[in-house]
Amino acid sequence: MESCIFCKIIGGEVSSEKITETDNFLVFRDMNEKAPGHSLVVPKTHIKSFLEMDRELYGEFMEVTKAATEKIMKDYKHESFNLIINDGEAAGQVVSHLHLHIIPRNVGDGYKICP
Ligand code: AMP
Ligand code: ZN
Repeated sequence: MESCIFCKIIGGEVSSEKITETDNFLVFRDMNEKAPGHSLVVPKTHIKSFLEMDRELYGEFMEVTKAATEKIMKDYKHESFNLIINDGEAAGQVVSHLHLHIIPRNVGDGYKICP
């Protein structure tokens, strides 16, 4: 989709800081990070919702999320993390291209999960 910022990142038109990628997913750092290493796991095909993904990709989605989370925990030395999908407007989805947030957490960081 032409106007989608994440499609532009996937296509290389907009720069991003890549954490890792697979055939069907790209993981890059969030530009408004809640903590150093906050990243987004994004399918390379434009879909809006978690429920729209081809069923054969769910395994790869979890595998790449695990690999990226392990790398972020190690590289940025965090204690804990949240994995979050804001799916739909009422859930706080701003970018209409499915993405899973990997948000590093540390005791006392004060970050509130629920809006
Ligand atoms: P959400 O509210 O779940 O739709 O979150 C969208 C996320 O995308 C926000 O955390 C933004 O900071 C992030 N974001 C938007 N544009 C970019 C970009 N060009 N590069 C990296 N992250 C972005
Ligand atoms: Zn897109």
